[in-house]
Amino acid sequence: MIKLEHITKNFKNLKAVDDVSLEIKKGEIVCLIGPSGSGKSTVLRCINGLEVPESGDVYIYDQKLDLNGEDKGRQLRNKMGFVFQHFNLFPNMTVLENLTLAPIQVMKKSKSEAEEIACQYLKRVGLLDKKDEYPNKLSGGQKQRVAIARSLCMNPEIMLFDEPTSALDPEMVIEVLEVMQELAQEGMTMVVVTHEMGFARTVADRVIFLEDGKIIEENNAEDFFSQPKTQRAQDFLKKVM
Ligand code: ATP
Ligand code: MG
Repeated sequence: MIKLEHITKNFKNLKAVDDVSLEIKKGEIVCLIGPSGSGKSTVLRCINGLEVPESGDVYIYDQKLDLNGEDKGRQLRNKMGFVFQHFNLFPNMTVLENLTLAPIQVMKKSKSEAEEIACQYLKRVGLLDKKDEYPNKLSGGQKQRVAIARSLCMNPEIMLFDEPTSALDPEMVIEVLEVMQELAQEGMTMVVVTHEMGFARTVADRVIFLEDGKIIEENNAEDFFSQPKTQRAQDFLKKVM
């Protein structure tokens, strides 16, 4: 469903992503882990075209993500939801307006249809009663659940998460992870950059460990955590677990 072939992305003379190839199947949950600066976010951003690699190709459903070929590129990008560490909600809009903006503008849904769908997703993340609040009235965990619901309103086939819980107080982490775990159980294809090793271990099908822009190790979650093969992965796990 997602395929990266020999992706390289430089920032000036820094190789942020260095010849990364990977394939993610429909319904698969893949966690990207690794030290700070190892290129996790950049890999994720290349998947949905927020970064354009210098070389290599990204395929979504066997279609090349060509960001210069406007329409098709945009259609492919619209299949992907992206959830950021810092929520990126529009502060001057209510929760409901945050959720209906793109469905109305991009998917050309009517206001009432967009609102109906938005309310379904808000209910699912347990926040229907907050629909008329502004984001600054919500806790971090609530904001992130709104951000996830907002992505789901676009009916994505792939969800990309970049450290969705790392800006949250510990007691709010769990409520966001629970929403993500439910999505995973429903069969959503997910790529998750995370420092939550417990989540990676229990929810991921596969773990990809990056360092210096390269994939150092890749394995099913159970084996990766119980018997990491490389010294670098062993050292990393010792530090974070
Ligand atoms: P973290 O765990 O801290 O989020 P990361 O694994 O997500 O790290 P990236 O953000 O992908 O790492 O960054 C990889 C490298 O590329 C880092 O050295 C970073 O400083 C650099 N980098 C990332 N984005 C940019 C940018 N827009 N301009 C310049 N350098 C960048
Ligand atoms: Mg990052």
